[in-house]
Amino acid sequence: MNNRIDKLAQLFESFPGIGKRQARRFVYFLLHKDNGYIHDLTTGIINVKSEIDQCHECYRFFTKTGKDVCDTCINHEHSNQLMVVEKDADFENIEKTKVYDGKYFILGGFINPNEKKRSFARTEQLIHRIKRDTQNGKISELIFGLSVSPEAEHTRIRLYTMLREKFPELIFSTLGRGLSTGTELEYSDMETLKHAFNSRITQ
Ligand SMILES: [Zn+2]
Repeated sequence: MNNRIDKLAQLFESFPGIGKRQARRFVYFLLHKDNGYIHDLTTGIINVKSEIDQCHECYRFFTKTGKDVCDTCINHEHSNQLMVVEKDADFENIEKTKVYDGKYFILGGFINPNEKKRSFARTEQLIHRIKRDTQNGKISELIFGLSVSPEAEHTRIRLYTMLREKFPELIFSTLGRGLSTGTELEYSDMETLKHAFNSRITQ
């Protein structure tokens, strides 16, 4: 037992998708690296925390500008479409296609099918946002821009059921064909995403 190693391994274990064994491998990997690498890594972590902000509207991370809201939210202020995506990487990929010109909401994770387990999805924040934006006539369509996987599908159905009841006047749509099962939005090419957006299915 080595306390220092255990302690650092525990920190890595809290990373998404990292188990005990992988966490320890990270520690040993770092022990083999030179001081230059360790310095770059630690300052990189400190800098990313101090220079990056989270948008108060869409929850995506952006380089600090002194404002609470990111440029994408400011630029799409007049759109009446809101797209719900799982994570920042999905947002970036969709933005690249330029096929969608509306607002975003980063969910931050999926709703866990096991109700006892913690869910990272920002469900409450999403409801709050839709409530405010539908009340002042700012959104009329909600687009589910989620990957194609059982977890994403479970999340979409749960959200749809919940939101449809609360906001009956809202139009709900979901990215259409072209995205096959197991498709990660983050890795989808531009043509596929464009097609999926243009053939989105209204529910
Ligand atoms: Zn934003």
